[in-house]
Order: sequence, then structure tokens, then C-alpha cells
Amino acid sequence: MAGLTAAVLLSARGFRVLLAETQTKVGGYLADFHRGAWCFDAAANFLGGLEPGGEVAILLEEVGLAGRVSFVPVQANFRILLPDRQLDTRGGSYLEMLKAAFPESRAAIEQFAGVLRQIGGEIERFGRLRPWQRALLPLFCPRLFRHGRATVEPLAKQTVHDPVLRTLLTSFPATAPPDEVSLLFASAALHKSERGGLFYPAGGMGGLARALADCAKSHGAEILTGDGLEAVEHNGRRVRAVRLHSGERVAARAVIAAFNPADVLALLKGPGGAAVEAARRRAASFRYAASAFVIYLGLKSLPETPDNFFFTTLYETIDLGSIYRTIARGEIPDSSVLHLVLPDAADAQYSAAAPVAKIITPMPYAPFARCREHAGKEAYRRMKQEWTERLVERVSSRIPSLRSRIKVVASATPLTLEHWTGNRGGAMYGLEATPSQMGPWRWPNRGVLEGLYFCGHYTRPAHGIVGACCSGRFAANHAASDLK
Ligand SMILES: Cc1cc2nc3c(=O)[nH]c(=O)nc-3n(C[C@H](O)[C@H](O)[C@H](O)COP(=O)(O)OP(=O)(O)OC[C@H]3O[C@@H](n4cnc5c(N)ncnc54)[C@H](O)[C@@H]3O)c2cc1C
Repeated sequence: MAGLTAAVLLSARGFRVLLAETQTKVGGYLADFHRGAWCFDAAANFLGGLEPGGEVAILLEEVGLAGRVSFVPVQANFRILLPDRQLDTRGGSYLEMLKAAFPESRAAIEQFAGVLRQIGGEIERFGRLRPWQRALLPLFCPRLFRHGRATVEPLAKQTVHDPVLRTLLTSFPATAPPDEVSLLFASAALHKSERGGLFYPAGGMGGLARALADCAKSHGAEILTGDGLEAVEHNGRRVRAVRLHSGERVAARAVIAAFNPADVLALLKGPGGAAVEAARRRAASFRYAASAFVIYLGLKSLPETPDNFFFTTLYETIDLGSIYRTIARGEIPDSSVLHLVLPDAADAQYSAAAPVAKIITPMPYAPFARCREHAGKEAYRRMKQEWTERLVERVSSRIPSLRSRIKVVASATPLTLEHWTGNRGGAMYGLEATPSQMGPWRWPNRGVLEGLYFCGHYTRPAHGIVGACCSGRFAANHAASDLK
């Protein structure tokens, strides 16, 4: 998403752009793939930023794609399965669902969400401040200043006493426990989803990636697939050229790298000086998000109406801390959080000929890597198969109408995700959203050499599709102003 955003923006602004993608198709975690008649989104499920003035809406507007890609709202199509009960958002928003399910805690929910909304509002305001105003942060954004290094849990513990409700309020798209997830990230996520809603691109995530690529081409960008960056040439002060895997050398005044900056630094040829060495040391200290196990199911028909939700989250335990700490130790938790996604259920009017389902659960990289390295490919294939069957069984035990509809099964381990996207360890979200890796402490979008820029979910402002989209814009803006 980040690289496509930068490419489409710069080509639309009249710059000469070459986008080189290692894989045979663009999109990274937005890409799709086919098995027979079934088309699967490889990773991402939904996005925000589509409200008027939202980050993705502005991008589509600026490059001439507004109205040419359509999106289906999905936020009223979420379901939570707890060990003893089920909640859903069909009556309204996520918070309305929680208030209806925990009427005695309505005030606590409002108090918790109220603080997040205020911080979220200040994060938005921060983007509009002038540099001198940003220097006076305590004055212009006091909450941002006060909570900059805070995690979600203290506020949640202070306001919400019911442990189940606390888990549901602190479940954000991150792979760290609530006592490690940045309050700023949680606030931005809540603020944005409440203001603009959540959407699924009609035609799938791959359709969105292709629309951006085609649009960049229509503005004159050249898109090269199956040939990524092998080396970045520089003279110690500024970048001069890139070398591609094919051996081709392309002279460039600006290089925007849309993958892990730590890997980009390894591609810099020749002595880079103190700034490069400092950045390399810093790169070694970053903490990556955990990976996931993803199962792709081709169905003969959609599950029955009671189970026909776009997004179902099955909590086998409400102890998120224990899940993510076990994964961080490189072990597979006995009980976890499993998500079932039915993209075809996003649009009630849509009757898909080849409906699909996807199961996603956080998963450590190490056990799969160890198995493949020490026990070989066949043992790894068996391990993947066993986990696929086990996880389908665990989801089907709560959603019985799923299993009998399955026609085709494919799956991705953390190694698969790493292989297809280059994200180390198959990190779902690039860098983990902890306080020490957010805001000014995250990778900046202007790099350590003149003419080198970074974007993607390791960089500012954050991870996710919207975060990557913003980072692509930030990098493109820096490059455009430096090139002028
Ligand atoms: C299972 C899963 C579900 C998710 N669900 C959601 C969701 O519902 N909503 C959401 O907002 N986010 C979701 N995310 C996270 C989101 O998908 C990512 O944060 C975001 O898409 C990252 O975009 P990116 O452009 O930074 O990186 P990527 O998508 O990782 O793209 C990086 C690209 O760089 C290419 N590349 C790597 N090395 C090189 C090289 N040397 N030369 C050239 N190209 C190279 C890769 O091939 C890839 O195409 C999910 C992630 C996963 C794994």
C-alpha cells in the first residue's frame, strides 16, 4: 500500500516514477490469489480513512480514482463470540454493542472511550500544527504530551472493572498485550473508526492494489514486477542509483523504499558515515509485530444466516496478555483469538458464485522456522497441514455451519507471509505499536542519506492500510519538495 501510494501520488504530480516490486504482483499484504474459481485476499481484511477528508479518500480524490473504486461499509457486520455468549454490531457501532451487553458499565465505557477520543482528536490536530506550534506540544496538544509514553492498560484498569469488557475494549489491531500497546495508537484507531467507519473494497483488496497500480501507470509510472531492489548506490552523502535483482542499474535522484528500513540499510553499498551507522544500530533495537497463521477456505455456499457476518472474532480466552506473551516467547498458545472473515457477507445483496472464508490467528514464527530448518520440508508441510486442520476444527466447533461448506483449503504460516512480502518473521504489522515505537520514536519518512525516503508499516505514522497510505504520502511529499 505504501509504495503504491507514493508511486501514484508522485506520478500524478508529474514526476518520472519507476516502481520495482520483487513479487510478480503488486500489493504486498493487499495482494490476492486464486485457487480454481476462488479468489482470496492474502492478508488484510478492512480499512478506514474513506470518510470525506479521510486519508484514503484524499488519495483517491487527488489521483483521479474517486468513485472508480467502491467500498462496502462493514462496521455493522462484526460479531464477537465469547466462551459463554455472543455479541454483534448489527444494532450500531462496536461501542453501542458493548453498552448493550454491559449496561451496568455504560458510564465506564463512555469514560474510557472519551479519553481515547480526546487524544485521537489531538493526534489529528497535531497534523495541522505549524512547526513552532509542534515545539510547544504541552500547550497545543496537552493530552498527546501527557499520554505520549502511556499504554492502554492503566486507563482501562482505572475505568473498567469487568475483565471481559476490559478485554473487548482493549482489543486493537496490534500483537502486543494491553499493558504494552500504545495509548496513542489505540486512540487514533478508535477515533478514526468511529469517525469514518470501516470498509471492504468491492472486488477485494487485490482490486484496490490493482486500481492504484493502473492509475500510477495512467499517469506515466513504469511498474516492474518480479524485479526488486538489490542495492542502493550512494556517494556517502546522497543516493545516486539503484541496482535491481536483474542486474539493471537505474540512476535515481530519489529512492523511496517501502519495506523494512533495516533491510534497506543493508542494501546501501559503500561507507555511509555516522548517520547510516547510527540508523543501523537503531534498527537492531526495534521490536517487530508478531505474525499470523492464515487459512483460506473456498466454500460451496456461505454459512447460514445466523453465522453470516463479515468479521467474527472468537475469544477462546479473554487473557490477551497471556496470548501475546506466549507468542513473544516463540511458543504457540493453547487458546487464542481467532478471526473468521467472510468478505462475501459484506454486501447482503451480493450472491457470490465462489464464496470464500479466511481464518486468521496470531502465531509465532519460530516453531515453523525451526521445523523447516531441522526436520525438513516434508515435516514443515505436515505441521502446516496439522495446524490448518486444528484451527478449522476450533472455529467450526463454534460455527458449525462452516465445515460442511468447505471445498478448497489453503493456508499460510508466518514463513509464507515472510516469503511473499519480505516482512521479517512474517510480521503482520511491521513494527509493534508500543509507546517507544510510535510518534517521534518510529522510523522517520526522510532517510539517512539525501534522496532516500522510507514508507510502509515500519515508519511514521503507524501500521495498517491507512498507516501505510499516510506514510507513502509523507515520503512522496518529502521527495517532491526536495526534488523541486
Ligand atoms: C493476516 C493479516 C491481516 C491484516 N489485516 C488488516 C486489516 O484488516 N486492516 C488493516 O488496515 N491492516 C491489516 N493488516 C496489516 C496491513 O496489511 C499492513 O500493515 C499494510 O498493508 C502494510 O503495507 P506496506 O505497504 O507497509 O507493506 P507490505 O504490504 O508488506 O508491502 C511491502 C512490499 O514491498 C515489497 N518488497 C520487499 N522487499 C523488496 C525489495 N527489495 N524490492 C522491491 N520490493 C520489495 C514486497 O514484496 C511487498 O509488495 C493485516 C496484516 C496481515 C498479515
